[in-house]
Amino acid sequence: MSFEALGLHASILKAIAEAGYTQPTPVQQEAVPAAILGRDLLVSSQTGSGKTAAFMLPSLHKFASAEAAPAGAKTANQERQSAKARGERPRFAAATPKMLVLTPTRELALQVTTATDKYGAFMRRVKAVSILGGMPYPKQMQLLARNPEILVATPGRLIDHMESGKINFSQLEVLVLDEADRMLDMGFIDDIEKIIAATPDTRQTMLFSATLDGVVGNMARRITRDPMVIQIASTTTKHENIQQRVHFVDDLSHKNRMLDHLLRDTTIDQAVVFTATKRDADTLADRLTIAGFTAAALHGDMHQGARNRTLNALRRGQVQVLVATDVAARGIDVPTITHVFNYDLPKFPEDYVHRIGRTGRAGRNGLAISLVNHAENMNVKRIERFTKQLIPVDVIEGLEPKKSAAAPRTSRKPAGWKPGTNRNGNGKGSGGAKPGQRTFSKPSGPHKDGSARRSFGNS
Ligand code: ADP
Ligand code: MG
Repeated sequence: MSFEALGLHASILKAIAEAGYTQPTPVQQEAVPAAILGRDLLVSSQTGSGKTAAFMLPSLHKFASAEAAPAGAKTANQERQSAKARGERPRFAAATPKMLVLTPTRELALQVTTATDKYGAFMRRVKAVSILGGMPYPKQMQLLARNPEILVATPGRLIDHMESGKINFSQLEVLVLDEADRMLDMGFIDDIEKIIAATPDTRQTMLFSATLDGVVGNMARRITRDPMVIQIASTTTKHENIQQRVHFVDDLSHKNRMLDHLLRDTTIDQAVVFTATKRDADTLADRLTIAGFTAAALHGDMHQGARNRTLNALRRGQVQVLVATDVAARGIDVPTITHVFNYDLPKFPEDYVHRIGRTGRAGRNGLAISLVNHAENMNVKRIERFTKQLIPVDVIEGLEPKKSAAAPRTSRKPAGWKPGTNRNGNGKGSGGAKPGQRTFSKPSGPHKDGSARRSFGNS
């Protein structure tokens, strides 16, 4: 998937290209389209996964789209100049930022400001300013007097300025809590609550955290509305509430009969069917429509408007079966999806986890069914190794495969399975990247199991 496909403003695309980014990272692929639609986000993903751009690009996009409108409001500074010209004593007009990013540390705030300058390099009227503890007040007053659109701040110092009337959040549109878990660990909870209370309820809220459990999770849910939850780091967690099954098929016609039969299951509320290619998604959606299902396709060749319409129809329940490719489906967070079908198996085990995670949202139960040719048994085993779970094989009466499943697949542990380790064997998240380190621009070496590591944007 490309940045263009995310629907970002041309000036931002230009800046991204200059930054040398060629593909959005997984967290960006999920977060950006949803944030552009105005959704609140709760995101956990590992360090170095590109979270800054995940919240900054859609926000800049919003401001870039508004930039086209005639410049009306005077800056606080202009206000002061004209007051002077009128012979009045210049009054300090409070800054009225549109976006606030809260970070736990000064370093992080400066990083975010620098990144914002980079991503917004080709936008005329968007300025980002850091408000930090330890910085001289007069300097900060100067910065605030320019009435920047974007404030990046540590909570303590921001409170000082709020209390002395230097900042007014009535115009705030976007609130970001970056590294929220760390801010809470550092004891900023009361400050954060106070700041949030000063912002309008209409704001869009995006929260980033290493974990969404416990105290952070409680706060996160309290300060967001119908948030989309994105958890990239947890690709290997067991989806406990999602049942998985494999059905073996002899050929395409057997597969189609099987899918039609399974889709008539009355426990299905809504289903997503994954295909390997965009063309297959279109073809299958057409075939299912003819067969009487309300089906629609979703893939990367559709422009953003059409994709949004399809997703909205899915959300409103007007589409029962969505036929999708991997990348297009990454951001789907529709709690009424009860079933996921792998019409084709994904190329990479990671994608399998993403796919089945489209169901079982918000703690509900889901069913994930893969329709697999006998020759693809190896791929099923790779998925089992990756998820450290066996996927039971099921047979439907009247639709039994002619061949019985290749090897006995009873309750033995998948090959390579070791308790308490992940695929890196280090007991920590995958990657181990340091902040600022680019870990995803090039695909690197083969996995232990011989499969190629995923490169971003393969569908
Ligand atoms: P996080 O907040 O998850 O720790 P950052 O947003 O700080 O991650 O990004 C980490 C590094 O990756 C930064 O150097 C950033 O410039 C770079 N980066 C972000 N997105 C991309 C991308 N799509 N392609 C290449 N590099 C990227
Ligand atoms: Mg970060």
